[in-house]
Amino acid sequence: MRTKSIWFAGLLWLLLVTNAGAFYDPGLQRWINRDPIEETGGINLYCFIGHDAINYVDLFGYKPGDSYPSLDAAAVDACNDIIPKSIKEDLEYGGKLYKRQDGTFGYTRPKKGSKESVFLGSVAPPPGTTTVGDYHTHGAPSSRGKTSAGDDRGDYFSSEDKAGNRRCAYPGYIGTPTGKVKKFDPNTGQTTTIYPPQPPPNPQPPPKPTPGTNPPVK
Ligand SMILES: [Zn+2]
Repeated sequence: MRTKSIWFAGLLWLLLVTNAGAFYDPGLQRWINRDPIEETGGINLYCFIGHDAINYVDLFGYKPGDSYPSLDAAAVDACNDIIPKSIKEDLEYGGKLYKRQDGTFGYTRPKKGSKESVFLGSVAPPPGTTTVGDYHTHGAPSSRGKTSAGDDRGDYFSSEDKAGNRRCAYPGYIGTPTGKVKKFDPNTGQTTTIYPPQPPPNPQPPPKPTPGTNPPVK
């Protein structure tokens, strides 16, 4: 009897382990990476190398294989390609940004996620390239509510987004519901808007002399 119980326990354990192997199942993305309710949503990156279980067909004419001179340029194009669709469907999309041996950059095809997340852990860059960043979008305007300052929450990296990029030690980019592309660099902790290009800060004009307050001229 005892032996049977042990076998039964073993079988249960095996089933659990086997189920854990379904980590790659796109159907599980929903809860694997579900954001806390108060968060603005986003991705959770597990930095293991995996193989994408799905063969994505390039139905929309994106050019993920194109070469870009910089990581930022690849990220802006990756986000801008998919932002309209992401907004229309109110779903996150995302992918990896990679560097080729010739020094140019590219991005993987956008992978469809859920309303709150897109799982990029299983997205592998092309052979011979190195992952140097990732990108994802945040769906439709206002679908995450507003910040206390009245801004669209989708315009900001979630804390989970940032935590993922800190773990991976490479920059993350978001395509936002208002059409911006923002970058979070875990090395500096800075978030910057890289699209549309931001005007340089205005130099402060010299203060105009106010009558009556000028120091007396000697
Ligand atoms: Zn996010």
